[in-house]
Amino acid sequence: MTAKQILIVEDEAPIREMVGFTLRRAGFEMTEAANGKDAQMRLGEPLPDVILMDWMLPDISGIELVRQFKRDELTRNIPIIMLTARSEEDDKIRGLDTGADDYITKPFSPKELVARIRAVLRRVNHVEDDIIVVGDLHLNGGSHRVQAGDHEIQIGPTEYKLLKFFMTHQDRVFSRAQLLDHVWGRNAYVEDRTVDVHVLRLRQLLKPHRCDKMIQTVRGAGYRFSAKH
Ligand code: CA
Repeated sequence: MTAKQILIVEDEAPIREMVGFTLRRAGFEMTEAANGKDAQMRLGEPLPDVILMDWMLPDISGIELVRQFKRDELTRNIPIIMLTARSEEDDKIRGLDTGADDYITKPFSPKELVARIRAVLRRVNHVEDDIIVVGDLHLNGGSHRVQAGDHEIQIGPTEYKLLKFFMTHQDRVFSRAQLLDHVWGRNAYVEDRTVDVHVLRLRQLLKPHRCDKMIQTVRGAGYRFSAKH
């Protein structure tokens, strides 16, 4: 298992440092955003497993960002923990109403923060362990196995990630650049053509099971995954 990625959106550097130290020691990986714009950019990288969201940011409010992320199909299922200096009951409720999964009031102890993160991850992992089924294809997020009917498909890590992305984002066209962002990460130095190479490999893996047609080339636009032919 790779380490879980936590994105912290927080304008105060000392808090980011403290949280970073705590999370790395607890076995997590952390990426940082110092404001709302930066946070929106960072979501183009491999999606984080949990987002820690400060309430008061210099550009966009944390609440507004939570609303945006919960509206977007790609980021909707990422648990968000609000970090807030406010402790009024009303604000807590407002935070949860917008879709934040939990909140923690500053100052918080490292131990409490780690416990809250583990708690939201446990909730999500129940979903991840579930098997995603599209047609004959079964993808097991817990064991990273893919089956077509009763046959197990030997799949490489990149093709697995690509297939999982497709299976969880059906009937929507993604450009090569979007696939690169979401599957490889924006910081990956790969060309658009790399996407074609891996799509081709994935189709070859699926072909003996007659599932290759689920990956459709949309001329001039990119690729779409669909069980409807
Ligand atoms: Ca702040």
